[in-house]
Amino acid sequence: MAGNRLKLELTRVVQGKSRLGIIKGLGRKGQHSLEVPGCLLYTHFGTVPHLTQDTLHTLNSLPSITQVTLSTIAEHQEVLEEFKDGFRAFAGLHDTVLYCSLHDPAAPCPTGYTTNKTVSVWGSGGRIELTVEKFMALQKTVQPDFYQSMADGETWQNNTSRKRVRKSVDRTLAHLDECLLVHQKVQELEGVEVFGVVEGGDILEERVRSARETAKRPVAGFCLDGLQTGSMDQTLRTQLITAVNKELPEDKPRLLQGVGRPDEVLACVEAGVDLFESFFPFQVTERGCALCFNFDISADPERAGTAPPEVLEQNKEGDPEGEAQHNGDISVEDQTQMTSFEINLKDKRYHDDFRSLVEGCGCYCCMNHQRAYVHHLLVTNELLAGVLLMIHNTAHYHGFFSALREALANDKLDLLKRRVLRDRGQIETKE
Ligand SMILES: [Zn+2]
Repeated sequence: MAGNRLKLELTRVVQGKSRLGIIKGLGRKGQHSLEVPGCLLYTHFGTVPHLTQDTLHTLNSLPSITQVTLSTIAEHQEVLEEFKDGFRAFAGLHDTVLYCSLHDPAAPCPTGYTTNKTVSVWGSGGRIELTVEKFMALQKTVQPDFYQSMADGETWQNNTSRKRVRKSVDRTLAHLDECLLVHQKVQELEGVEVFGVVEGGDILEERVRSARETAKRPVAGFCLDGLQTGSMDQTLRTQLITAVNKELPEDKPRLLQGVGRPDEVLACVEAGVDLFESFFPFQVTERGCALCFNFDISADPERAGTAPPEVLEQNKEGDPEGEAQHNGDISVEDQTQMTSFEINLKDKRYHDDFRSLVEGCGCYCCMNHQRAYVHHLLVTNELLAGVLLMIHNTAHYHGFFSALREALANDKLDLLKRRVLRDRGQIETKE
């Protein structure tokens, strides 16, 4: 059977729902832990995009869990089988907890390819169809510390019928039972934990049924699927997550898939989510932008210089995502569009802006370079642009999660929300 060491110890629950705590017993030997609310380290095939291991480790407070996805691993199954020692050794990852999910949250996943017995993932070479047998053979070669069970998650589009949603819940439960059955027979997976997947689209009863049934199985935690950015507005998402969480045991972590925007993260933490995927800084980097939202909740002005940003700036030319924010209606396409939490360094107004990306940020990029230099790298398509932006965006995003935990510990969640959300209305312009 799946391992039983992984446990969430809650230190505080704020206003009945927001959970502060620590996940203990992570890793095969149970030697790792992770504070929640927290996020996983997003990677492509084991590597944080743009960064080498050396560069990555210039960053403080990196999460102890590295996320890899079967969509990028499935097409290398034969090589990994031949290698034998698992993905961690293959990718040169050492002191980290390895978590294997099905899909890449930052990559589009075409729908219409699941059947009663299979789900499809999309790698660089196209579609790969997975049966439970193949899925489990992959887990055996990857040898993660924990993995997401196989799931039919094709119900996030808001025109999905009730019948289709019900089918996705049934299939996902059947896949979980089959995965658990195979799991206990595979020696290589001894001590590895399984996260059950909660589906149910936007139908409350199906969400509750999925959560209730999944919680009956011997899983170590839960993935909340089909609630990603673009699938629904935050009010409905909060409602569904709240209902789901009532059915889930308190001592098992809840990982929300596909949600990364700071405003949505805050709302979902308030609904009781513990873990997120950290693909958002990567998306911001890919569009040539730098995260700049304010999350400084220190009362001591002396600290403001060392703690994150005072700088708040919005794109003068308008902000489509900001608009979408207000009416709560965000289309899927908008996931790749700029948000009001970032500045676009490709903009020509930065060509002579000699300030750091975010004043007070202690990352390598902000300590050594100015906006004007990064602007130059971007317009001349230098690879270093992506490296520097990814360093800053990763540092900024993980700093936000630290501030979030600090806010929960010190009754400052409202202050943090004001910083992150309300301050977005302030526009600082250079000229
Ligand atoms: Zn920085």
